[in-house]
Amino acid sequence: MAIESLIRPRGLDEALELLKKHPDWSPVAGGTDLMVQIRAHRREEKHLLDLSAILPRHIEIRDGALSIGAGASMDEIARSPLVREICPALSEAASQVGAWPIQCRATLGGNLVNASPAADTAPPLLAADASLNLASGDTRRKLPLRNFFTGPGTTVLGGDEILLSVEINRTRGPGLSRFEKLGWRREQIISVISLAIESEIDDEGRLLDPRLAFGAVASTPRRAPHLEALLKGRKAESVGREELEAAIFEDISPIDDLRSPAWYRKLAAVVMLQRMLREVQHA
Ligand SMILES: Cc1cc2nc3c(=O)[nH]c(=O)nc-3n(C[C@H](O)[C@H](O)[C@H](O)COP(=O)(O)OP(=O)(O)OC[C@H]3O[C@@H](n4cnc5c(N)ncnc54)[C@H](O)[C@@H]3O)c2cc1C
Repeated sequence: MAIESLIRPRGLDEALELLKKHPDWSPVAGGTDLMVQIRAHRREEKHLLDLSAILPRHIEIRDGALSIGAGASMDEIARSPLVREICPALSEAASQVGAWPIQCRATLGGNLVNASPAADTAPPLLAADASLNLASGDTRRKLPLRNFFTGPGTTVLGGDEILLSVEINRTRGPGLSRFEKLGWRREQIISVISLAIESEIDDEGRLLDPRLAFGAVASTPRRAPHLEALLKGRKAESVGREELEAAIFEDISPIDDLRSPAWYRKLAAVVMLQRMLREVQHA
């Protein structure tokens, strides 16, 4: 099925009105996921609603939280001093999406709504307890990101809804915010596995409220509750490999696919986390 029309609304209100009338129209922001899927015949769309010129792309503090417009590009996020200060893990993740030309088009909103289990911005945002601001017609709702993904490529977003912005609360004290991605090469590669960690750390080096999230090891990006319970209140060096493995294997359920067998993802998860914990120990 060929694309019949590309509609360019003049503003968000018009876009929301059009989507209310035509929930089958597909929003497009940077197009770096959608156009690839259409060309590969993995998705059929007749009418595209071009949001690229009208989505918010601010990166600023609003009501005490870091607010990032859904239209902000990976390049803007990676270069933002505010993101680097409040959520370095997100800054790192954005700087590893594709390569620079892709980063200049790819938006934060598109990365989340596309809902790939390997979406690189999802783990740092899950670990940061981020929320999403969604709009449909005149209605606005706020949703924790952890309730957003429902499966590979699917979310709770309604057909007439637009993701407007993402919100991260400022962390309270000195802490840890890291993202790491493993792929078959450094650039232009989808993650074989990714991991983000956020935590406050006390003067003794104990992880006070560790929040961890993985990408590409389950049907959606996901938090790691068993690991969080294991690490809470502990110093990195006190955690042994066996207990780490036991908790990780409760939290992840990777599959064999083109990019990697499941056993390799499991091994990589343990090694990546051990490496991150060693860095905390020596920080
Ligand atoms: C060469 C290449 C390399 C890539 N490398 C990576 C990588 O390393 N890591 C990674 O995570 N991704 C990667 N991607 C995927 C892609 O670049 C990102 O997921 C990107 O952030 C998608 O954003 P976009 O604006 O292009 O989304 P689009 O393609 O415009 O949209 C994606 C989906 O989101 C919907 N949508 C977009 N914005 C909104 C909104 N505000 N409200 C509601 N719905 C919306 C669209 O309808 C569509 O379903 C790569 C893609 C390519 C082509």
